[in-house]
Amino acid sequence: MEQQIIHACGHEQAHVIYGFDSQIARKARWLRSTKCRACFVADKKAEQVDAAARDSAIIAHLDLTPLTGSERQVAWAENIRISRMASLAATSHTTTEADCNLCLRIYDAKWWIDHRDLPNEEFLVQATSHLQIAGIPADGQRSAAA
Ligand SMILES: [Zn+2]
Repeated sequence: MEQQIIHACGHEQAHVIYGFDSQIARKARWLRSTKCRACFVADKKAEQVDAAARDSAIIAHLDLTPLTGSERQVAWAENIRISRMASLAATSHTTTEADCNLCLRIYDAKWWIDHRDLPNEEFLVQATSHLQIAGIPADGQRSAAA
């Protein structure tokens, strides 16, 4: 049956709760201790914005080259790249600057999307082999600069 629940955030929301009376009472009690759906979504959004801002600040010094791909792929891959680079930068004791430079030479939006779920170590292995297959020496820029 439908119940109006006043959530911890002060908003009222209708909930359909099924079960025995005791279960309904328990569920209603629990719901009252949580935030309403709108506040929950707003919180999650704010968290994501915060995380994105933090990640962008961490990699602000990096020179990010534009990605190639469809508009949708590029927009998605740019977010993936930002959080990946921030994650690599945050674990600098295991990752060298060369690793970041390596990733910055991958411009293919689809590649970033395809490899978004890999752990950092495996990701770097894939990045290295991707550049080798593409015929780009892994330390190309650095030896050219030296
Ligand atoms: Zn609310």
